[in-house]
Amino acid sequence: MTRQHPPSNLFYQNRQRRPMIGEARGIYIWDADGKRYIDGSSGAMVANLGHGNERVLAAMRAQMEKATFAYRLHFENEPAEKLAQMTAARMPPGVNKVFFVSGGSEAVESAIKLARQYAIAVGESSRWKIISRYPSYHGSTLGALALTGMDNMSAPFAQMLREMPKVPAPTCYLDHDDLSMDERGLRYAEMLRAEILAQGPETVLAFIMEPVGGASTGALVAPDSYYKRVSEICREFGILLILDEVMTGAGRTGRFLAAEHWGLQPDIIALSKGFAAGYAPLGAMVAHERLVEPVLAHGGFIHGYTYAGNPLACAAGVAVLDEIDRLALSQKAQDMGALLKAELIGLKARYPFIGDVRGKGLLLAFELVSDVETMTPLPKAMDTHIHLVEEAFSRGLILYSRRTRGGVEGDHFMVCPPLILTETQIGEIMEILTDSLDAFADKFDL
Ligand code: PLP
Repeated sequence: MTRQHPPSNLFYQNRQRRPMIGEARGIYIWDADGKRYIDGSSGAMVANLGHGNERVLAAMRAQMEKATFAYRLHFENEPAEKLAQMTAARMPPGVNKVFFVSGGSEAVESAIKLARQYAIAVGESSRWKIISRYPSYHGSTLGALALTGMDNMSAPFAQMLREMPKVPAPTCYLDHDDLSMDERGLRYAEMLRAEILAQGPETVLAFIMEPVGGASTGALVAPDSYYKRVSEICREFGILLILDEVMTGAGRTGRFLAAEHWGLQPDIIALSKGFAAGYAPLGAMVAHERLVEPVLAHGGFIHGYTYAGNPLACAAGVAVLDEIDRLALSQKAQDMGALLKAELIGLKARYPFIGDVRGKGLLLAFELVSDVETMTPLPKAMDTHIHLVEEAFSRGLILYSRRTRGGVEGDHFMVCPPLILTETQIGEIMEILTDSLDAFADKFDL
């Protein structure tokens, strides 16, 4: 029996009160009543190291004893210096200038502002448009929201946003034609080129994408052809490539950056989530030195946050990156991701309403449909994204779901446990997931 909580002064969105968290260790979370949950989504794809990692906690305790706050105009701090150096060492060549922030939206805001100030610094001030994809998610602050391709999130703020051009995300798996996946990928890339021409290339500053989709598209991976062509198109028009690796970064897809799968050479990278793995609110905007130099020479980067480079958050970040290496978590994401994905694909044979299983490493998702051939979504009124998540939650498995997809709508469920996952734990997840899908199928007579 779950305890009833008194009315709260906190508010988030329009949602029911959730159980109070008690403790969290490894891939498990216990609520205040002692009920155990598997963190099957690492929160919102954050807790890559799992919970309660002793080395990270020790590093944070040690830093807390020294100093928890240092204002950047008064002092440098060692954890920030060290984390910047460790971060730069993990980026593509030249992408080595690091600007710390407290989360993903701030990382994207910072990328927007740096890109714009770079254009001004090099005498290309006609460039200000940043093309993004639809659907996509880049954050909830007004600048990041202008890039986010989710109507329901931006609609109330329409007058206040400078809406940015969007091109369709490469939802090739939904297309019905005789083209190969690579040909479809090229078709989507050419839509970017057409949009640049329509906007006027001299006005376009950058193109931003999540290399593997996050919650917006449910772990959407494009065909290889897409990444290569999109990079060529950006180069052709001198447009900056910004990769939003807030969710994909720090090992989640099986490499430290998802960009590595395709050898992408971005100009700016946004990081957060797994970067401090939930141990501290931390993110980073990492830019190519060729962008930062003219901005600094042209009066400096006009942007900043009080908590930028916070020593406690950065000490957590240093320890997290050390743990990602020590535990070889990118490789684990590849190995465990392959096993978990095979299990999820196996579910398709048993449940005819599972339409697609996709993702890379441990950024995985499955999508529910009413017809696998046509990929027709289940009726919106069924609210399957809520019901299945609740079936799983009540049985002790946390999933992350969304209803959104391209021009139509569908329900996808992210299965993204911490990267420390073991084979035995994959078995535990699959057992609860199967029970939950059975109950869900019974409930809706599927
Ligand atoms: N970018 C991507 C790809 C994300 O997935 C998110 C969050 O889900 C953000 C940006 C925004 O990050 P935050 O919620 O930390 O502001």
